[in-house]
Amino acid sequence: MTEQNLTQFPAASLLGYPRIGRRRELKKAVEAYWAGKIDAAALDAAAKDIQLTTAKRLQELGLNEAAAVPGTFSFYDQVLDATAHLGAVPARFGQLLNAEGQLDIDGYFTLARGNKEQQPLEMTKWFDTNYHYLVPEIGPETDFKLASNRIVEEFEFALANGIETRPYIVGPVTYLLLSKASDDAPADFAPLSRLEDILPVYVELLGKLAAAGASWIQLDEPALVVDQDTPAAEIQAATARAYEVLSGAAARPQLFVSTPYGSLDGQLGTLAATNIDALHIDVFKGAVPSAAALAGLGNKTLVAGVVDGHNIWRNDLAVSAAKLDELKAAAGKLAVSTSTSTQHVPHDTAEETQLSAQLRSWLAFADQKAVEVKVLADYLANPASAKAAIDEASAVIASRATAEGVQRADVRARTAALTEADFNRSEYSVREAAQEAALHLPPLPTTTIGSFPQTSEIRSARARNNKGELSNEQYEQLMKDEIKRVVELQEELGYDVLVHGEPERNDMVQYFAENLEGFDVTVHGWVQSYGSRCTRPSILWGDVTRSAPITVVWAEYAQSLTSKPMKGMLTGPVTILAWSFVRDDQPLGETANQVGLALRDEIADLEAAGIKVIQVDEPALRELLPLRKADHAAYLKWSVDSFRLATAGAGDATQIHTHLCYSEFGVIIDAIDGLDADVTSIEAARSRMEVVHDLEAHHFGRGVGPGVYDIHSPRVPGEAEVTELLSTAVKHVPSRQLWVNPDCGLKTRGYAETEESLRNLVKATKTVRASL
Ligand code: GLN
Ligand code: ZN
Repeated sequence: MTEQNLTQFPAASLLGYPRIGRRRELKKAVEAYWAGKIDAAALDAAAKDIQLTTAKRLQELGLNEAAAVPGTFSFYDQVLDATAHLGAVPARFGQLLNAEGQLDIDGYFTLARGNKEQQPLEMTKWFDTNYHYLVPEIGPETDFKLASNRIVEEFEFALANGIETRPYIVGPVTYLLLSKASDDAPADFAPLSRLEDILPVYVELLGKLAAAGASWIQLDEPALVVDQDTPAAEIQAATARAYEVLSGAAARPQLFVSTPYGSLDGQLGTLAATNIDALHIDVFKGAVPSAAALAGLGNKTLVAGVVDGHNIWRNDLAVSAAKLDELKAAAGKLAVSTSTSTQHVPHDTAEETQLSAQLRSWLAFADQKAVEVKVLADYLANPASAKAAIDEASAVIASRATAEGVQRADVRARTAALTEADFNRSEYSVREAAQEAALHLPPLPTTTIGSFPQTSEIRSARARNNKGELSNEQYEQLMKDEIKRVVELQEELGYDVLVHGEPERNDMVQYFAENLEGFDVTVHGWVQSYGSRCTRPSILWGDVTRSAPITVVWAEYAQSLTSKPMKGMLTGPVTILAWSFVRDDQPLGETANQVGLALRDEIADLEAAGIKVIQVDEPALRELLPLRKADHAAYLKWSVDSFRLATAGAGDATQIHTHLCYSEFGVIIDAIDGLDADVTSIEAARSRMEVVHDLEAHHFGRGVGPGVYDIHSPRVPGEAEVTELLSTAVKHVPSRQLWVNPDCGLKTRGYAETEESLRNLVKATKTVRASL
């Protein structure tokens, strides 16, 4: 390393920053590029603009030391960026590298989005967040070579504008642990076995960054905080080896390894024993390690992730300062950062002027977190200088605890009075008989999952209503017209249990957040979900109650149009929590029970209005599953309980359905069983009914609807194809339990293909019914 490269690690920095842009500029540019509306140069200019705006903004907020600004920009995904730099293009894509051996922007987007012949890389959840990354496909055949220079170019671009950033890349151990074996790999192949082959590519990249003048590089190793299937000793050996090789590089920036999303536990010692230069640990979600463990760090800089990067609440600076004191006593050099990248939170609370000043004062989005980190770094240098800011945070947090709506006596009295009986319905056999008598359904009843196509007319009506161009009466009439059309269509197609189509819902969580007490919604609070897709999570800040029925008028109207049973449609407590920013001042289970009780009231009102079938969607049940296996049981207990609390007030004759968006039951089949729903619909079409084997093995005893129509693409499943899927299903699941339905809601589909597909479902059902 040259002299110039030996700068200290910045006292204050973020692990990462949102890259989609304050006004989703990246989304717009990328989508315009895909649509052929702008060229590669214009896309590049938009990206540079976002990078420079970010760097200047963070400097302005006080993160102005060298390497304080994280180089975490990405055109699509950080794992895909690593794939590009490692040249790890799956063989199935053929020759995707250009004449210079580089994966250019079109090749990069091909991996993300697929092409005519090839499916894109699979997408999956990034740790315990709602961000999704693209899964690398690695096999013995993967030919690793540095196939992108983007990280270097981005660094050079910022430097030319006077800002030395800190380049970022997913570290080698995490990269391979997040990979799956390629199609061509032998059955027992483990991607981690290719460690020796990817390290030279990292070394080459380090050399280029050093030559460009980078003093630090951030290697992200979150996989080290998760219980992996790979034995811990193997991961330990891989980590030791990886950082032995990287630290031995002839020319390199100083190595900073970040480990967000939880405690490193035993792997702290592994990293401490390497020659890296700085180590980040998450001490927000994770525990403060023992002094003995920290002593092993020796001369390395410990970067304390004390400010939460994953949720939006203002930091309790006094608590963080106390953690820093503890760490300072045990570690040599100490710097301050966030627990995770702030890519999971919106940019700036100042944008949300429609929120009350009080609520805004409780929040910290990415820009506020930058300031918090800076204050805490100042505290380390000179405690007195941070006193005013720390006191202010303490005062705001104290005022939050007593603010109106945060703790409501009526809500608390209700949750405190809950008994075992509130979580249990009658025996299933009793319910089954009562429901049979009430519903008179044929064998293999047909239904859909809830939403029908959200046409541009529906969306524009909602937008005009929000702008005041359409009165509430006019808007409601349009929605009723749509419901009528959906009901008539289902009657004509011959469905047995009907839905109203959900036209009045902007989103299955936000709709409920807007109609329950204890929530607020943002205007600009977009966060990246994957690629160019963003979501705008609601803020669950107070005790949750329902001040008036939410869905009842719509369900009642829909039921009035038909003599067939109309399914009431609700989003379950776990999904509402998983897709919102949830209060951090009480256990999640307590919050989930409050939501559960609000839904329980809604179910009672639906029943009173004559609704006999009610579906409570829980597609996110698996999403909040903790990263450490030791925490699974406690999570599954409270999550399942909140669903049971929501539904257990229903009468025996009321049929409770639930819907889950996936088919890998794996670790949670007991939990799904524990929901005790009368009917469970799941995704199965894409996996060709694989799930029926799990159901059979588990002796799943209640109604189940494995999807027979993959709604993720416009493709229409033929009658013969659906007949075959159903014939497979009846071989493994008793026919009296079996339902016929699509994989999921139809809101992203068009009407033409939906109608044809739904028609084929009914025809196939008739064929299979006749064969029973
Ligand atoms: N009822 C919802 C719908 O049909 C379910 C969506 C989901 O599970 N993601 O749209
Ligand atoms: Zn679904």
